[in-house]
Amino acid sequence: MAKLTVSDLDLKGKKVLMRVDFNVPIKDGVIGNDNRIVAALPTIKYVIEHGGKAILLSHLGRIKKEDDKPGLSMRPVAERLSNLLNKPVTFVPTTEGKQLEDAIDGLNDGDVLVMENTRYEDVKDGEYVKRESGNDPELGKYWASLGDVFVNDAFGTAHRSHASNAGIAANMAQTAAGFLMEKEIKFIGGAVDNPEHPFVAILGGAKVSDKIGVIDNLLAKADKILIGGGMTYTFYAAKGIKIGNSLVEKDKIDLAKEILDKAGDKLVLPVDSVVAEKFDNDAPHKTVEGDVPDGYMALDIGPKSIAEFEDVLKSAKTVVWNGPMGVFEMSNYAEGTLEIGKFLGTLTEAKTIVGGGDSTAAVQQLGVADKLSHISTGGGASLEYLEGKTLPGIAAISDK
Ligand code: AMP
Repeated sequence: MAKLTVSDLDLKGKKVLMRVDFNVPIKDGVIGNDNRIVAALPTIKYVIEHGGKAILLSHLGRIKKEDDKPGLSMRPVAERLSNLLNKPVTFVPTTEGKQLEDAIDGLNDGDVLVMENTRYEDVKDGEYVKRESGNDPELGKYWASLGDVFVNDAFGTAHRSHASNAGIAANMAQTAAGFLMEKEIKFIGGAVDNPEHPFVAILGGAKVSDKIGVIDNLLAKADKILIGGGMTYTFYAAKGIKIGNSLVEKDKIDLAKEILDKAGDKLVLPVDSVVAEKFDNDAPHKTVEGDVPDGYMALDIGPKSIAEFEDVLKSAKTVVWNGPMGVFEMSNYAEGTLEIGKFLGTLTEAKTIVGGGDSTAAVQQLGVADKLSHISTGGGASLEYLEGKTLPGIAAISDK
């Protein structure tokens, strides 16, 4: 069933609690990159333009002791938000109590308030009590009491059951998705639940063990799964292909055999690799088909594999990509990842969905990100979504 979204709500005069993802990189109080704040603007603007009082909650980093708190205050984020919105933003340096409640009571329609980092609640009087990240029921109830409606726009934490997402939602009559969350549900949820075929998944990255849940779930839904990256060589080992010194998870070889048996020709492995003498950009390297020679390790997929993958992708109607095809941080082993990213940018007839930090970095580096249908904002959350798991943050959003 479709989920309720912020545009379904009557916001005028309402205290709108909004869980946003302001978990930006921050060092000595200086924000490294404000992409996540910028990404949250459409939903925030929508709420205030429709007469809501926006009360924003987010976590920032991890807090395990009192000393972690000062460096992870939300104050610089509130200041940046104020600049981006070009209007005053009230910052409240606490997560509960009279100061917060009075500030909320003082809001006019269209005002914006940012509460202190929700994870300040994880440490109380020096003790690591995890009230926020352990979803303390009293905390969710208290935060819910501060607003009239709840909008969750933080997909990045949707796979966690925290007080600031599932906890608040459990105590609200209505929880709606913000625009970012809505887009994640539409594209990733759509690909998993109701993909247009042919549906092709491209999975890369270091380890089979990280992607096993995704492979398992997508075998039942996708028409082809293209495998690249380090995990290729655990599959090679399972097939008796030589792997030289390539990355391998020895304890996952049997599992890889089971997957290969189950998958038949649905699972497509690279036919060639770029192999190097060392894990080093400047090491002697060459392209080989099949067996990786002794004394070499495979660090990228080769040109034949790229061509074969592109041949499968060209007729796809839905494509999901997670994980690099090689060690793309080193320029000599980046071609597989970059070529696949570039090719996705040409697939104008398909829904193209990219998740995971490295694949996202690749399409951004290539400048093709705006040619793709969707770049997911949540690494862990997008993987769990692709695994077919129920995400507590999404489950807690009301149905339409
Ligand atoms: P993941 O975090 O599982 O998505 O894996 C990403 C990492 O896998 C990147 O840092 C890549 O450098 C690395 N990687 C990709 N292909 C290989 C490979 N063939 N051998 C070793 N590492 C790889």
